[in-house]
Amino acid sequence: MKPPVRVLLVGAAGRMGKTIVDLAKDDTNIEIVAQCDIGDAIGSAVKKSDVVIDFSHPDAIDGICRSALQDQRPLVIGTTGHSAEQRAAIERAAQSVPVVFASNFSAGVNVLFAVARNTAETLGAEFNVEIVETHHQMKKDAPSGTAKTLAAILREARNANDEISIQSIREGNVVGEHTVIFSGPGERLEMTHRAASREIFARGALRAARWIIGKPTGLYSMQDVLGL
Ligand code: NAD
Repeated sequence: MKPPVRVLLVGAAGRMGKTIVDLAKDDTNIEIVAQCDIGDAIGSAVKKSDVVIDFSHPDAIDGICRSALQDQRPLVIGTTGHSAEQRAAIERAAQSVPVVFASNFSAGVNVLFAVARNTAETLGAEFNVEIVETHHQMKKDAPSGTAKTLAAILREARNANDEISIQSIREGNVVGEHTVIFSGPGERLEMTHRAASREIFARGALRAARWIIGKPTGLYSMQDVLGL
C-alpha cells in the first residue's frame, strides 16, 4: 500500500479547513501533518508535507507561494477572491511547481462547467445568458469565484462580446447555488447546481491533493483532475 499523502492545510481553523480535517480522518490515503491559520509561520510546516492545501484568505497567497517554491511542493488552492496581482503570483508559481487552482472543487459543478460550455457553443449568441448565484451571508466575495469562472467559460464558448450578467444573492445558510439561464426566442433553459454541504469541496480538494503528486509543473483546473 502507498503511504498516505502528507498535507499542510492553510486556513485550518476556518469552515472549509475544519471540514477537510474531519473528512481526512476517514481517508487512509491522506494524512494532515500540519495545520496553519492566520499568524502561523508556514515555512517549517511546508517541509513536513508532500502538498499544501489552501482554503484561507487571498492575502495568504504570497507566503504560500514563497514557501512552496522554496521547498518545491505542489499546491492545491481553493481560496477565492484573489486580486489580479495575486493571480499572477499563482501563475508564476505554476511555472516551477504543479498547482491545482479551482474556484469550486465539487465534481457536480465541474460537470456543470463542461455542460454549460457545450450548451453555449450549441445555442450561440442568439441566446442571452445570465448567472444567478446564492450563498450564505458570511461569504466575503461577490460574485462567487464559481460564478466568475462560469461567466469566463460562457463568454469564450458563445464567442460574443456582451457581458454576462451575474446576480449575487446572500441569504441564510445557503452553502452554494449556481444557475445558468439561457434565454432564446420562445424558449428558456436553466441548469442549477445546489451544494448541500461543504464536504463536496473538501472531498474534491483531497482528490486533487492525491492527483497532483508527481504531476509536471503547470497550472491545472479541477476539470483536469476529473479528466473532463
Ligand atoms: P473562513 O472565513 O471560515 O476560514 C478562513 C480561515 O482562514 C480562517 O480560519 C482565517 O483565520 C484563516 N486565514 C485568514 N487569513 C489567513 C492568512 N493570511 N493565513 C492563514 N490563514 C488565514 O472561510 P471558508 O468558508 O473556510 O473559506 C475559505 C476560502 O475558501 C474562501 O476564499 C472561500 O471563498 C473559499 N472556498 C472555496 C471553495 C472551492 O471549492 N474552491 C469552497 C468553499 C470555500
